[in-house]
Amino acid sequence: MKSFRVGRLFGIPIELDLTFLLVLPLFAYVIGAQVGRWVGILNDVLGAGLDAGVLTATPAVSFGLGTVGALGLFLGVVLHELGHSLVARRYGVEISSIRLWIFGGIAQLAEMPEDWKKELYIALAGPAVSIALGGVSYAAFVALGGLGGTVGVALSFLLGYLALMNLALAGFNLLPGFPMDGGRVLRALLARDRPYARATQIAARVGQGFALLLGLFGLFGGGGLFLVAIAFFIYIGASSEAQQTMMRAAFEGVVVRDVMTPAEQVNTVARETSVADLVRRMFTERHTGYPVLENGRVVGLVTLEDAQSV
Ligand SMILES: [Zn+2]
Repeated sequence: MKSFRVGRLFGIPIELDLTFLLVLPLFAYVIGAQVGRWVGILNDVLGAGLDAGVLTATPAVSFGLGTVGALGLFLGVVLHELGHSLVARRYGVEISSIRLWIFGGIAQLAEMPEDWKKELYIALAGPAVSIALGGVSYAAFVALGGLGGTVGVALSFLLGYLALMNLALAGFNLLPGFPMDGGRVLRALLARDRPYARATQIAARVGQGFALLLGLFGLFGGGGLFLVAIAFFIYIGASSEAQQTMMRAAFEGVVVRDVMTPAEQVNTVARETSVADLVRRMFTERHTGYPVLENGRVVGLVTLEDAQSV
């Protein structure tokens, strides 16, 4: 899918997917159109005491708020992904980019380490950032409370809105289904005392069951089509994670150590060994590759293919 690189954070490229560029104005519009409703929620939940009349007086104000709110929301998503990325990088995992698309953000990790502790901390880092952002927004909301004028009320609104949305983002991401963070947390915890493949299978099942429930709620419980789309996305995510694991399970627990030739049994050749001798040894010793030694140090590797190319 076409995407645009907009900059770097901590050396990690930030990319905007085409689907994100379509969904951003939509979000700005939806938030702008719901300013009145959100004022009600903020007054109920946070005791904000905001005057909806000030914020919905003109479309310019409400849609301006919608635009800033949407940008703030997506900045929160980028920082959430950055949380995952920086912890992953500390564990030596390469991050090619952070990409924003229609369903939010993805940190593109080279590979998730199969070590339950690392996976757990990487998975928790995103929601932890979201919770921290929610807390900081709330603290600023409280500190600036009571500011008057359109700008003051608008600022209170945005801070309160971002406080709730970042907490909601953390909660949503902790739902126990792949590819949500909660699915990875679940797998990491399951992998403490069982093989990684088995843990993945169980976590994937839970994710699929959860996606099914979510889809049914979307269809029949009034959750709406967006929820059905998310349920579908989680179901596919869980299935593909389980499938990848089936393939890996064949080699589960098998490391190179188990199949390699130990150093003391390795047949080696010298740089001066003739290719004719090498080929003769390949046939008698049934090896197709030899380390090349000089003064006891490995200086190269020679294989049957190399010999054939002479
Ligand atoms: Zn996350």
